[in-house]
Amino acid sequence: MSSGCDHAIEYIYQYLDDEISWSSSARIKIHLRRCSSCMGAYEFETKLKSVIRERGAAEPPPELFDKIRTVIQDEAKKPE
Ligand SMILES: [Zn+2]
Repeated sequence: MSSGCDHAIEYIYQYLDDEISWSSSARIKIHLRRCSSCMGAYEFETKLKSVIRERGAAEPPPELFDKIRTVIQDEAKKPE
């Protein structure tokens, strides 16, 4: 895990919410290519979002997202 991970994870959520500038999204893409733990988090979030969209369900409660994010971040902190 590189020192850029904290920022990358933060940017991933903004990226998925389309709340990010093109320069930041370029940095994320570069980081994801080099970092498997952030790539895992990114893929997980992407899948989660698509499942929610497919089901046409209402957005899950924010607490659920917070919980998932905590799990991902704990996972990213684990040593290789
Ligand atoms: Zn990373």
